[in-house]
Amino acid sequence: MRHFFTAHSFAISVPEFVTESDRLIRGELKANFIEEVNSCHRALCTIIQNVPKELIPSDPNTIWTTYGQGAVSRRLQKALCALIDDRIAAHYSTTRNSRADKQRMTSCSAKNAGAWLMAVPQTPAVTLSDSDYRYAVRHRLGLHPQSDLPPLCACGELLKSDPGHFHSCPKLMPRAITARHDTLVQILANMFKRAGVVNIEVKCEGETRVRPDIEIILSDRSLLVDVAVVHPAAPSRRSHVALAAARDIENAKAAKYRSVALERGATFSAFIVESYGALGGQGLELLKLLNSTLNHAPARPFELSERVVAETFSVALQRGNAFISHTGSLAARARAVSDTVSSNRMEEAAG
Ligand SMILES: [Zn+2]
Repeated sequence: MRHFFTAHSFAISVPEFVTESDRLIRGELKANFIEEVNSCHRALCTIIQNVPKELIPSDPNTIWTTYGQGAVSRRLQKALCALIDDRIAAHYSTTRNSRADKQRMTSCSAKNAGAWLMAVPQTPAVTLSDSDYRYAVRHRLGLHPQSDLPPLCACGELLKSDPGHFHSCPKLMPRAITARHDTLVQILANMFKRAGVVNIEVKCEGETRVRPDIEIILSDRSLLVDVAVVHPAAPSRRSHVALAAARDIENAKAAKYRSVALERGATFSAFIVESYGALGGQGLELLKLLNSTLNHAPARPFELSERVVAETFSVALQRGNAFISHTGSLAARARAVSDTVSSNRMEEAAG
C-alpha cells in the first residue's frame, strides 16, 4: 500500500490528480486499483514466511473490511516490518554465513549498537560528517572502508579476506586506535563531571597503563573505570555469542585491575564497546549510574538526556572508527606505492 500511495502521489500533479479522481469515481481506474492491492497482498505474503492471519487476511478481497473495522492494532506497519526484517535476516544469514559476518550481525543487533543511526544531528557531539558516516555504514555492512584498496595492509596482512582488518591491525594501534580510545575516555569523564561528581581523574598515559583510565569519586564510593573498544569480528575471536568479545575483555580487565581497585578501596568497572556499537554489560551498568547521577543533578540539560548520552558515545565511536578506517586506507595505499617504486627499482637494477 505504501508503494502504491508513494508512487502515485509523487508522480501526479494537482490538475492531473483531479482528473484521476474523477476517473476513479467513474470506476475506470477501479480495476487497476484492485490489481495494485492484490499485488501488494501477494508481495506481503511472499516476503513474510508463515503469514499471521491476524495481521494479513488470506483473501485480498477482505483487506478493506479487515483493516477498516479496526480489528488490527495501530502498530500494523511496525509488526509487518519486523516480520519482513526477520525474513531478510534469515536469508542474509544463509547467504553470508562466514564467522565474521555472523559475529557482525550479532553485534549489530545488540541494544544501542545502531544509536548513531537514530541520532538527530542537533549538536556537534551527535553529528557525523558525510565521510565519517560513509565509513560507519561500510563498517556496519561488512564492506571494505574504501572500494578500491590495494591487496595488502601496511602491516602486510591481506585485506581481501577481512574487510574490518584495520580495527584489529597492530600497525594502527599506537595512533588511530588509541585516539578512538582516548576520545571515549574523555567523553565518559566529562559526562560524569557534568553530573557533578565529586572528583574525577583521567589516567590516559599512552599504551602502557598500570592504572585504569578514570577514577570517579562519588559521594558514597570510589570507582575505577577502564575503557576499551574490541572488534568482535577480528580473526582471533571465535565466539558467535552476543557480546562474547566484550565479556572477554571485561574479564581480562578485571583480572588486571582487581588488585589496584582493592588497594584503593574502590570497585572496578570495564567500559567495553564493541566496534559496531554494542556496549558490554558493565558499560551498560555504568551508563545507568551516569544517568541516575545526572537525574540527581539540578536541571539535567537536554544535550545530556538519556537518549543523547547513548547517541554521543555511539557517534564518537563511529567517528573514531572512521579515523581508523581512513588512516588504515591511507597507510595501505602508501605501502602499495612504495612497493611499486621498490619493485621498479629492482627491475631496473636487474635489467
Ligand atoms: Zn594491518
